[in-house]
Amino acid sequence: MASDFPLTRTTSPLPGAERERVLAAPGFGRYFTDHMATATWSADRGWHGHRVGPLEPFSLHPSAAVLHYAQEIFEGLKAYRHADGSVWLFRPGANAARFARSARRLALPVLPEEDFLAGVEALVRADEPWVPVPSSEESLYLRPFMFASEAFLGVRPAKEITFSVIASPAGPYFANGLKGVTLWVSSTYTRSAKGGTGAAKCGGNYAGSLAAQLEAEEHGCDQVLYLDAAGEGHLEESGTMNLCLVTADGRLITPELGTILEGVTRDTILALAADFGLTPKECSVTLDELRSGVEDGSITEVFAAGTAAVVTPVVGFKGEGYAFTVGDGGPGKQTAALRSRVLDIQYGRAEDTHGWLHRVL
Ligand SMILES: *Cc1c(COP(=O)(O)O)cnc(C)c1O
Repeated sequence: MASDFPLTRTTSPLPGAERERVLAAPGFGRYFTDHMATATWSADRGWHGHRVGPLEPFSLHPSAAVLHYAQEIFEGLKAYRHADGSVWLFRPGANAARFARSARRLALPVLPEEDFLAGVEALVRADEPWVPVPSSEESLYLRPFMFASEAFLGVRPAKEITFSVIASPAGPYFANGLKGVTLWVSSTYTRSAKGGTGAAKCGGNYAGSLAAQLEAEEHGCDQVLYLDAAGEGHLEESGTMNLCLVTADGRLITPELGTILEGVTRDTILALAADFGLTPKECSVTLDELRSGVEDGSITEVFAAGTAAVVTPVVGFKGEGYAFTVGDGGPGKQTAALRSRVLDIQYGRAEDTHGWLHRVL
């Protein structure tokens, strides 16, 4: 049985007219809904205090372990409103399971998967008016997270943990249509090594990525493409999205799991590939293979996959002393088709043959 997250409504919700103004141009991660879900874990009581209440700041002691040792994990998923007004989540069980895996890696207590889902659903119900009526790709982005809130200085797993879910309306990621991005192949920084935390969705991985992102921007690129930490030149991922290649002979290739984040979108793309005549393949690809494949035309398209942007065409790569363009430098056909199919399923416009949708309202 999942825990209940009883609701205490805020007495000062954002007035409806102001909420509608926000929903007309929400951007990404800038506005937050009226409520938040929380639960607490302590070593002696286990999980307790599940509730949905007004969105409010946390009160943390300056020695709270997360502020010093970064014992923290998070998730990201969206609620979609369908044409009939109903509200749905996309594969939330996959996020719940990944949250549990991330928790184990960061020595955090595991939140039962049904409680993860109950917390997310309770917040969506409380903030139902915040789920946008989509004109293109609007949704309500949900951010479950968990952190070490115990006050102590010392390196050991914390004995007091806070779980929370907040929600932020999200507009179309590509305001001016589907543009491609250029990736900077960093030879300075890596994201994750064997035995490290690369497969966990933890804030620390992102803290370590910021300098690399600045390096990418200094070279006129949008994001980073990380190579393996062992220096063997294997492609990993782009820091917030998984990487996929399409070949002229009909394969859809993505780097195998291990040190990369196991993306829900990546898995969705692998499952949909066959519908587009593509054979999915998880295997290692080196930078040399990518470059020669792009140059001789055997690799025709490259894209990145993740919840926020769904599918992002990758149209070029740059590194120290080289640059190359994929195809004609624009988004590929299969990339656009896969992107549309994922969105059509999420918004209820295509049949959900895999049983990925989960109704909330
Ligand atoms: C969240 C994330 C992704 C994408 O995962 P989705 O489940 O598809 O959103 C890819 N890489 C990293 C490092 C991530 O944190």
